[in-house]
Amino acid sequence: MNTFLSLAHKAAQDEYLKFVADNLAAMAQDLDQGRTSCKDALALLARAGYLGINVPTSYGGRGGTLLDLTLFAEIISGYAAGLGLALASHYTVVELLLQSGTEQQKSRYLPLLAKGELLGAQAFSEVNAGSDYKAITTEVKVSGSNASINGAKAWVVNGEIAQLLAVLAKDGTNLSLWLVDIEPGAAPAGIKVGPARSKLGMRASVVNDLTFVDHAVALDNRVGGADVKADQVEKALLNALDVSKTVMAGAALGLADRALELSAERARTHEQFGQSISKFQGIQWKLADLSMDRHAAQMLTYRAAWSQADEPEKFHQYAAMAKMFAAKVARVHSSEAVQVFGVMGASLEEDVERLYRDAKLTELFEGTSEYQKVIIKEELGV
Ligand SMILES: Cc1cc2nc3c(=O)[nH]c(=O)nc-3n(C[C@H](O)[C@H](O)[C@H](O)COP(=O)(O)OP(=O)(O)OC[C@H]3O[C@@H](n4cnc5c(N)ncnc54)[C@H](O)[C@@H]3O)c2cc1C
Repeated sequence: MNTFLSLAHKAAQDEYLKFVADNLAAMAQDLDQGRTSCKDALALLARAGYLGINVPTSYGGRGGTLLDLTLFAEIISGYAAGLGLALASHYTVVELLLQSGTEQQKSRYLPLLAKGELLGAQAFSEVNAGSDYKAITTEVKVSGSNASINGAKAWVVNGEIAQLLAVLAKDGTNLSLWLVDIEPGAAPAGIKVGPARSKLGMRASVVNDLTFVDHAVALDNRVGGADVKADQVEKALLNALDVSKTVMAGAALGLADRALELSAERARTHEQFGQSISKFQGIQWKLADLSMDRHAAQMLTYRAAWSQADEPEKFHQYAAMAKMFAAKVARVHSSEAVQVFGVMGASLEEDVERLYRDAKLTELFEGTSEYQKVIIKEELGV
C-alpha cells in the first residue's frame, strides 16, 4: 500500500514516468550537449499539456497542485534537470498570476501559459541583488498612464525564449512586479537580451542577462493591479519563490533518484577482483546512504508541496528546508555515484557525469543553501 501519494497522484506519477521514458530519456545527452534545444523540448512538453499542470481547468490547464509540479520535476530531472529548471521558471509566473494577478491578467495570460503559447520567465535577480533581492536597482517610472522599466537583470532562465517575463522593479522605494509580454518572433523594444550563459550544469536550460532601457509597460500589467500594496508584492514574490524552490527540491530529488538507479546498476554489473563490486561493503554502504537520504529528502519535499495548501503558515519554512536538504543530497550522492563508476564516472558517455554537474547548481538558485538557513532559523526567533 502506498500511504505517501493519493491514487490520483500515483496515476499522474505513472503517466509522467511513461512520458519521460518514451519521449525524453533518449534525448538527455543531446539536451545537455546542445544538440537538441530547450525550446524544442519545451514545445514537446507543451503539446502534452505539461506547461499547464498548475493552471486551473477553468483557464485551460490541468488543475494540478504543487505536488503535481514537484512530481513532474522529480521525474524529468533525472534526464534533463535543465528542463526542470525551465519549467520551474514558467510555473512561477503562473503561480504569481494565480495568487496575485487581477482577473483581467489571469484571463489574458493563463490560457496561453497553459498551452505553452507563452513561456514564462522570472527576472528578479541582479548582479548585486541575488540573496539580497531588496537591493535591486531596476526601477519603474510611472507617469500618468505610462510606465517604463530601466535596469539589468542577471541569470534569467528562459530569457531568450520566454514571451512573458515577471520583472521585479522598484517603484520609488517599494518593490513592484510587472508582467512584460514579448511578441513571439519580434525583437523586444527596449529589452537587450544577452548571450546564452555557458554554465557548469543544467545545460538543457537557456539562461540570459536582460537589460531594460526605457521599456514601456502597460499600467494594467502591474501584478495585483494599480492599488496593490508593497506588503502584498513581497508576499506574492516570496510565495512564488517558495513554489519554485519546492519544484526544484523535486528536481534535486530526481537527480538523487537517478544517481541511485545508475550506481546500483553499475555496482551489480561491474567486476573487480573476480567479483561484482556490489559485493564490497564500501560500495554497499554508499548505496545504502544514498537510498536513506533520498527517502528523507522525498518526505521533506512532498511535505513542502502539501504545506502550500494544508499548512500555509509553514510553507515558507518547509520550502527552504526541502530545497536545501534535497540539493545537498543530490550534490553529495551524485558525487558518490561518480565514485561508484570509477573512471567511467568522469566520462561524458555516462549519465552520472551530467548528474554531478547538474546537482551542484541546485545549491545556488532560488536562494543559495546558506540563504535557506537564514529562512529556516527565522522560525526559531533568532
Ligand atoms: C542556474 C541558475 C539559474 C538562475 N535563474 C534565475 C532566474 O530565472 N531568475 C532570477 O531572477 N535569478 C536566477 N538566478 C539567480 C539566483 O537566484 C541567484 O544566483 C541566487 O539568488 C544567489 O544570488 P547570487 O548568486 O548573487 O549570490 P550572492 O547572494 O552574492 O551570494 C554569494 C555567497 O554569499 C552567501 N550569502 C549571501 N547572503 C548570505 C547571508 N545572509 N548569510 C550567509 N551567507 C550568505 C551565499 O550563500 C553565497 O555563498 C539563477 C541562478 C542560477 C545559478
